[in-house]
Amino acid sequence: MSAQIMESRTSLWPAAHDEDADRPRSRQRQLGASDTVCERRAAYILAGTERTDESDKKTAILGTYAHEGLLGAARRRYGWLVETSVGDDQIRGHIDAVHLDAATAVRLPKRLRPTEPADVVTVEDVKTKSTYVWDRTVRYGATEAELRQVYLYAHLLRTVGWEDRWGQRPLARLGPVDVQRIRFRFVNRDNGEEHVQEFAYDPEEAARARWWVERVTELPGPEDATRSFDGPGLDAICDHCPFRTTCWGLGVSPGAPVQTILIHNDADRAQALADYVAGHEMETKGKALKRKVRKMLDASPAGVYGPNELSWTGGNERTDEVVDRQAMLDRFSVLGVEPPERTEPDWEAMERLLIAAGLAVPMRTERRTTARAIKVSPAKNR
Ligand code: SF4
Repeated sequence: MSAQIMESRTSLWPAAHDEDADRPRSRQRQLGASDTVCERRAAYILAGTERTDESDKKTAILGTYAHEGLLGAARRRYGWLVETSVGDDQIRGHIDAVHLDAATAVRLPKRLRPTEPADVVTVEDVKTKSTYVWDRTVRYGATEAELRQVYLYAHLLRTVGWEDRWGQRPLARLGPVDVQRIRFRFVNRDNGEEHVQEFAYDPEEAARARWWVERVTELPGPEDATRSFDGPGLDAICDHCPFRTTCWGLGVSPGAPVQTILIHNDADRAQALADYVAGHEMETKGKALKRKVRKMLDASPAGVYGPNELSWTGGNERTDEVVDRQAMLDRFSVLGVEPPERTEPDWEAMERLLIAAGLAVPMRTERRTTARAIKVSPAKNR
């Protein structure tokens, strides 16, 4: 086999996975702000628990590449201050971008000053998302865990400032920085669409985020931490969690869903059944509401109404070639052949007979309308 063919058949992924494993983030044991997505996962990290599970990291690696590419371009072209680190004895993290105001920027060496200072110091987090969750992201914005993460960064900047480490010493010398605004920039990694969500820094939210971290650090051990998600097979966060086997085990018997470990006795069964009934009621009410609204909107034109956009799919005229049965009866009559009959002519048998005789089956064009479906999505540029 030629070297050229060998090269083309070698997958790029082993190289990408090896590089990913070498990243400092993949090996760190200290709690990072981005590890605060699940209470139990954070507790495992703090306890130094061995990671038991591997998962396919291709999507995450592609997300990292897109993230690095976008932030690198923003640094080179816009002079953004990107990928800087903050931390204290409890938590650390990398902030995607910090936009300094003029009063803070002037305290930095000229080469580090932004070309265009912000009106207030802003901490920005860039998140790449798939189309699959895009509507939800645009409609509801950052998740609770994403908010916690960015508030931890902002709080560290406000209380400690930047970490004193090589590459960012002039930033560290600024001391605490008065962050006033949080910004999320969501980028759809399938089509590049951008959505920005920003709001004023809320000290109460920051205190809540710090309290979350403190609570985890005070737990006697990971087993005392709450599982923040429903487990593998139900939640993608668990599907990719490196502690999923430690956390959920293997179910109560081979092949059983891991969630079976949540049932210990009849009281648990009674509660699970009550939850099932409640879920069923919510589902029934939700379906009835959607059915009613669908009929109410049937005559409404597509457009933006409040925070939502109404659009319609289908409802288009389409033409199909179908057997022209009357013409087929006429053809049998001209041929002087009795059509095969059941209670009505046996159309399929007539078709077969004509085909067997080498004669064309008469066709006609039938107009139909495709099913019309409603689509409700978050309005753009709200
Ligand atoms: S498997 Fe899910 S619930 Fe358990 S630690 Fe990981 S993310 Fe949390």
